[in-house]
Amino acid sequence: MTEVVYVGLGSNLGDPLTQLQRALEELGNLPLTRLIKCSSWYRSAPMGPQDQPDYYNGVAQLSTALEPLPLLRALQQIEQQHQRLRERHWGPRTLDLDILLYGDQSIDLPDLRVPHPGLYLRNFVLQPLAEISPALQFPDGSRLAMRLENCPSEGIVRLSSGDICGTTG
Ligand code: ADP
Ligand code: MG
Repeated sequence: MTEVVYVGLGSNLGDPLTQLQRALEELGNLPLTRLIKCSSWYRSAPMGPQDQPDYYNGVAQLSTALEPLPLLRALQQIEQQHQRLRERHWGPRTLDLDILLYGDQSIDLPDLRVPHPGLYLRNFVLQPLAEISPALQFPDGSRLAMRLENCPSEGIVRLSSGDICGTTG
């Protein structure tokens, strides 16, 4: 059984765009997984502590036969390979990979909550998501367009115009 999954990518240390681009390739190389689409990269001011570099974010759409928890472990392995530094909550990190959506499932486990708890609050996630799947509907029945309208869009800059997978879009 394969599911369509959206993964949020973020970085604000160690040449963020290179980290993100590599992470994207690593996502595509996961077992039982295919990279379908990815958004442009977006730059935004940090959440939480302001004395850290800007964040770079994007969203990838995958098709995978990995179950949710094995997928989470695989993403955490990729994070570790990028020598993620996590010294404080919302502090700088070389790579952050979040499962935003897993099919239309709602998951509430100690280690995994889907939709990701920050999803509806973060324009740097909603905007790239809208670029990939503008008509998306969430497990609670709400629509992405409505969620975007309710999420302030200040301070976020879209970096590249084309699709970063190399296909035009
Ligand atoms: P955030 O991504 O919210 O800024 P962290 O990456 O530091 O925060 O949080 C990592 C923790 O979040 C991990 O221990 C992981 O088990 C948990 N977690 C819960 N739900 C998810 C999810 N949907 N995707 C990724 N990690 C999740
Ligand atoms: Mg995370």
